[in-house]
Amino acid sequence: MTVTHMTDFANLRDAVPLAGTGVRVASALHANLTAPALVTHSLRKNEGRLSADGALIVRTGVHTGRSVGDKFVVDEPSTTGNVWWGKINQKLPVDKFAILKSRVQAYLQGRELFTQDLYAGADPANRISIRLVTTGAWHAMFARNMFIRPPAEDLAGFVPDYVILHAPDFEADPLIDGVNSSSAIVLSFAEKMIVIAGTQYAGEIKKSIFTVMNWILPERDVLPMHCSANIGPQEDAALFFGLSGTGKTTLSSDPTRRLIGDDEHGWGPDGVFNFEGGCYAKVIDLSQKNEPEIWAATHRFGTVLENVVADPQGRLDLSDQTYTENTRACYPVEFIPNVELSGRGGTPKNVIMLTADAFGVLPPISRLNPAQAMYHFLSGYTARVAGTEKGLGSEPQATFSTCFGSPFLPRHPQVYGKLLQALIAKTGASCWLVNTGWTGGAYGVGKRMSITHTRALLRAALAGELDNIEYRTDPFFGLQIPVHVNNVPDEVLDPRSAWADRAAYDAAAKGLVQRFVDNFATFADLVDEDVKAAAIRAAA
Ligand code: ATP
Ligand code: MN
Repeated sequence: MTVTHMTDFANLRDAVPLAGTGVRVASALHANLTAPALVTHSLRKNEGRLSADGALIVRTGVHTGRSVGDKFVVDEPSTTGNVWWGKINQKLPVDKFAILKSRVQAYLQGRELFTQDLYAGADPANRISIRLVTTGAWHAMFARNMFIRPPAEDLAGFVPDYVILHAPDFEADPLIDGVNSSSAIVLSFAEKMIVIAGTQYAGEIKKSIFTVMNWILPERDVLPMHCSANIGPQEDAALFFGLSGTGKTTLSSDPTRRLIGDDEHGWGPDGVFNFEGGCYAKVIDLSQKNEPEIWAATHRFGTVLENVVADPQGRLDLSDQTYTENTRACYPVEFIPNVELSGRGGTPKNVIMLTADAFGVLPPISRLNPAQAMYHFLSGYTARVAGTEKGLGSEPQATFSTCFGSPFLPRHPQVYGKLLQALIAKTGASCWLVNTGWTGGAYGVGKRMSITHTRALLRAALAGELDNIEYRTDPFFGLQIPVHVNNVPDEVLDPRSAWADRAAYDAAAKGLVQRFVDNFATFADLVDEDVKAAAIRAAA
């Protein structure tokens, strides 16, 4: 079935690898190539270069992250009533989508194309088949690394559920296509088609499919989640929810536990399962000592490195932020040594919610009761430090992204909240809030929580060592904080005593409490009484 590098134009008309894409002709068609061939094409096309260790280094141009203002959902009669419309899911009318889609199809027509047939969803009952058609060899490699690679025997009869038309160099036109800029990421749930145009950033491919899974699974009573997952020697799975930069990828790779996946999972009656077959790790300042597994995956053939800087010999400088602070490595899961290859993990025993609190006021670990877990899930708090180049002294910015992933939610957050609530009630999973952010002061004064301490706390929680110990309730957030945990100094556990200036701590904590209160106002009337009662309250 594989048609590769053919120049006989006639043979490529209506080629099977293009079925369902609406693109009928290619000047050369490279279907389901594996990494060595994709790297070869990528180098030939001048898309990138090799690192000293053989990883493919590419640049993504002006877009070094997702274009949040350019994402649209097609407003179709069959789906419109169930979409959470707003700034995240902007409406694109059906007729405008028809125009954009045919313009992109016409653009792809006759070009050198790369197709990949892949799966999302390690659980066969909750899997979708994806066909990507793209002009970029490295984008094909990205998708192949990120999604689940079907066994060879599945390729012959492969029928895509969803098609992605990927045209990174096509410029959309707001006047013609009804979009906001020359970049457009448009999802049609009725047509089961995604159009990505005008951006090289490959994370759009990954997160579009995540959005599709977030659309499909709730109707099957499966909760789609923006979380990483791993599984311990006792076959106990753990989930790590968290917004970007909070440690999902970092903390899920752990030599003592098998990695299930680093970013997207489903949780249904048959347990948790990865959506993907690869990882997408932030590599800025990656430390070989603290994160040996990810470091090794970053330094080998088969990995794609986005916007990473290298010297003329191809030696990486992972501290260099010249192109972006969001430098990334994309590699198949099996590049991590201790991986759960099935991508499945049964019923989770622990649910961890990660936050990188740049105000430095949340405790490094606290135990959440089910109502508090729901409150923190709906809040989806983390904080960012405004552009590192601005230097010290810049105020951290609170970010509340509901369900720890609002940009990827096509349905109302309540849909996901209710599913999680039911799963926690049914399974009795223990829930934890873990601050991987700052301690001893806000960003600029305090320091980032040590990864060693975070890992020690997680190890204790997952081993059940925190089940029957002494806790105290913090006065600001109502959180249950363990008084003593092995291998972690007591003053680290108590954020207030980690600050030299206690009055400054109290002021900062009050400030964060108020932000939680303001943010939760939109949910207050939608949640059950117990969640309402668990809400963080401003002091009288
Ligand atoms: P994304 O959703 O964008 O993939 P993520 O949740 O996977 O984000 P990571 O890629 O794990 O986030 O990024 C966490 C970053 O924070 C890493 O660069 C890691 O080295 C750094 N870090 C510093 N201290 C800690 C800590 N205590 N725990 C976890 N990560 C830490
Ligand atoms: Mn990640």
